[in-house]
Amino acid sequence: MTQTLQAIRGMNDILPIDAELWEQFEESVRDWLQAYGYRPIRMPLIEPTPLFARAIGEVTDIVEKEMYSFEDSLNGESLTLRPEGTASCVRAVLQHNLLYDGPKRLWYMGPMFRHERPQKGRYRQFHQVGVEALGFAGPDIDAEQIAMCARLWDDLGLDGIRLEINSLGHIEERARHRAELVTYLERNHERLDGEAQRRLHSNPLRILDTKNPELQDLVDAAPKLIDYLGEESLKHFAGVQQLLKDAAIPYRINPRLVRGLDYYNLTVFEWVTDQLGAQGTVCAGGRYDGLIAQLGGKPAPACGFAMGIERLLALWLDQGHRHEAVVPDAYLVHQGEAAGRYAFRVAEHLRSAGFSIHLHCGGGSFKSQMKKADGSGAQIALIIGEDEAAAEAVSVKPLRSGYEPPALQVRVSFDQLADHLGDILFPMEDDNGSI
Ligand code: ATP
Ligand code: MG
Repeated sequence: MTQTLQAIRGMNDILPIDAELWEQFEESVRDWLQAYGYRPIRMPLIEPTPLFARAIGEVTDIVEKEMYSFEDSLNGESLTLRPEGTASCVRAVLQHNLLYDGPKRLWYMGPMFRHERPQKGRYRQFHQVGVEALGFAGPDIDAEQIAMCARLWDDLGLDGIRLEINSLGHIEERARHRAELVTYLERNHERLDGEAQRRLHSNPLRILDTKNPELQDLVDAAPKLIDYLGEESLKHFAGVQQLLKDAAIPYRINPRLVRGLDYYNLTVFEWVTDQLGAQGTVCAGGRYDGLIAQLGGKPAPACGFAMGIERLLALWLDQGHRHEAVVPDAYLVHQGEAAGRYAFRVAEHLRSAGFSIHLHCGGGSFKSQMKKADGSGAQIALIIGEDEAAAEAVSVKPLRSGYEPPALQVRVSFDQLADHLGDILFPMEDDNGSI
């Protein structure tokens, strides 16, 4: 026997029971984004490789080792499956000149691809909701994005997600800090691990972000970027903090929060939980005022964040939540050829009237069909035998208790069926649909 084919490691199928949860999550996310005036944008999954090299930075985990890049066999162009959305979003905004009439609030959702070692909460195809505000300079938009996240956690009923913030200042401030950091790390060269030694001159800030426990004391005592920030950067940071305080959103300043991507400046933030093991960051973002110019656009400030959907949903399930089962309004059983043709017509008629109908397909005895009806979770079984078909009627049998008075099986004519179902399923509503 040939072996069945398997999906690529780290790229998951999302099976119906989970996919329904994803859809409910996506619905909440859409409502939430709309409430803050964000509009959707959809970018391609594949982009020219130089976009990511330029936007994310050559000396980053993503560009150094995590990208799925390949050559277009037609013209030899190097292409990459997007590892994140910000670069594509900014590229699209510039390409279509979306900032011509002022700042924009945009969002997207979809798969991202990174060649990482698969483990719990870390996949090679994973999904993000990305939120970008382009053209806004003040600390109000940074704080609003953070407040948005707090509200989403609340909407979803998620507890225990902590907020950490930091400021990366401006480029000259980082340069001064970097010089002193390198001096400090060089003095302690023999204590660095291989990766840190390699990063020492290419990207020393990232050493502060190390996950190696043996380096923690060393990085704790390293020069802190926040001590090098100038007046303007401090004012922006204070502005963000004031708005967070006004909104009663608790936060911790984490001076070692530097973020993995090169394009950030000023505010950076992460939402972290202890309940997911090592992969505890569910959302991360910050300001990236230099990126638009770096990608060839007219300089404009920007701020954004992305959350990992897999991690958020894992947390949601871990915290004991369960999504509502998706069930049809009615399950339609039938037997005999005339009944089958009539049942098909009844099902379409009811769907036109707005009901969700699971039409039994594949034959079988009434008894086995009724078992399926019960298992479907539907409120109602609709039964069509030869008698019903001949009379252009349907027998309606409530499957769940809880009706007052208890509803019995009744025969209803085709013309009355939709109203009758409406009365059973939505007993409190009048004909206009209001309560
Ligand atoms: P990490 O430090 O965990 O590698 P990162 O800094 O690379 O994270 P970002 O690029 O900021 O992550 O992506 C934003 C969010 O997307 C993360 O906080 C996380 O929730 C999620 N995420 C990132 N990489 C993965 C992955 N490989 N699998 C699942 N989720 C991921
Ligand atoms: Mg990463």
